[in-house]
Amino acid sequence: MAHDTADIVIVGAGIMGLSIAYQIARRTDHYRIKIVEKAPNVGEGSTGASSSILRNSYSYPDPIKVARDGHTTYKNWAKYTGLEEPRAEFHHTGVLWMMGETREVVQEFHDLMSGLGVKVSVLDPEGVHERFPSLSTCGEHFDLSFEEDHTCEDGEAFLYEEEGAYFDPVSACQDLLEAVRREGVEVRFKSPVVRVRTLGGRIEGVDLADDTQIDAPMVVNAAGPWATRLANMAGLDLGWKLRPIRAQVIYRESPPELMPIPTVVDRSSGIYFRPENRGQQILIGSILEKDEQEEVDPDDFNQNIDRAFRDTKIYGLHHRIPDLPYRGYITGVSGLYTVNADDVYPIIGPTPIEGFVVANGFSGHGFKEASSVGSMIAQWLTGKTIEFDTDADMAFFSIDRKPHALAEKSVLA
Ligand SMILES: Cc1cc2nc3c(=O)[nH]c(=O)nc-3n(C[C@H](O)[C@H](O)[C@H](O)COP(=O)(O)OP(=O)(O)OC[C@H]3O[C@@H](n4cnc5c(N)ncnc54)[C@H](O)[C@@H]3O)c2cc1C
Repeated sequence: MAHDTADIVIVGAGIMGLSIAYQIARRTDHYRIKIVEKAPNVGEGSTGASSSILRNSYSYPDPIKVARDGHTTYKNWAKYTGLEEPRAEFHHTGVLWMMGETREVVQEFHDLMSGLGVKVSVLDPEGVHERFPSLSTCGEHFDLSFEEDHTCEDGEAFLYEEEGAYFDPVSACQDLLEAVRREGVEVRFKSPVVRVRTLGGRIEGVDLADDTQIDAPMVVNAAGPWATRLANMAGLDLGWKLRPIRAQVIYRESPPELMPIPTVVDRSSGIYFRPENRGQQILIGSILEKDEQEEVDPDDFNQNIDRAFRDTKIYGLHHRIPDLPYRGYITGVSGLYTVNADDVYPIIGPTPIEGFVVANGFSGHGFKEASSVGSMIAQWLTGKTIEFDTDADMAFFSIDRKPHALAEKSVLA
């Protein structure tokens, strides 16, 4: 049996584990940090399939701050990572919320977000057409069963996040891998953690499948959809239902002349979509709670897309983009959300086991939040605040909170 030691072991080299390691290591060299990852490379869990949309609209101020400050790091990626030529690109699209809401409700969201420093506008249908001529501004419910008659009627008002964007998820992980190694973090691939050792309510370390023992007083659970399994290895019941849920995403060929198309969240048919591959494709996913119910084994699930899902979502896309040709190549992939079935928000921070820290349950919104999550944990651990930190309060996400009240338990939160 090989023996090793560390001050902090982070389990998982997805966007979360890498961001936590980087946020700690960029402010202090006080800790010897090791990331252990069971896969052969970065981003092979939820992160690799992420739509990686950077939007800021949430129901509460702290999640807005987390998203806003995560967005800032992605926008300033070279400066944040200290890499001269990062691989990942920031794709500015804007995010248009087509939610069928009244002008008053849209204005309320506008005021909440702009009060927190997010650049947002309220657009009327003409304002949408001026910017995005390909989009229908219908605000009516659009039934996807192919059965109900539908007459389009313009919505009253639409919230537009001026700086909304998306990012390259796997390239972002590769950049962070380079950045953490530069900062002295050791990253081990093909190293599944099979045991989390505790003694007297404190963390002692982890054991790897190859029999290596790593002694460490702190272990961070950044295991994504495997989070509950890892917590159980430490003998901890998280007290939150974190479910690995299959989440489907479609890629549809699109003629470039339909561009510009922003990132759109479309409640009329329950889809979101954004441009992909420099406008040659449109990526489509679901915002419906009913599409976030298929709990699966994260080691063994169907990674293709279902025909009914594909056909109905594409039908919804035609409603929103009436000139989209009916012919066009379609592909898709299924990834994993880790849905917190209790209130959809993640759990972040210390747990009743001393030294066991969690960053889990990010549903369909963890990518944008990762650097802020790392920032909150690093500030809590070191007491130091530096450039690109968030001022969101980690207590909002604490493991011992009461579930937050929500209008709907979907990716939108
Ligand atoms: C289809 C889809 C669309 C999405 N769209 C968006 C979006 O538009 N915007 C957004 O912000 N977010 C989005 N998300 C959510 C976001 O991608 C996730 O919240 C985020 O990637 C989670 O990152 P993570 O590092 O926590 O998990 P993961 O990427 O799953 O990383 C966890 C890692 O831990 C490793 N691991 C697990 N157990 C062990 C063990 N015992 N030993 C060693 N290693 C272990 C795994 O191999 C894995 O690599 C989407 C997700 C999906 C699936």
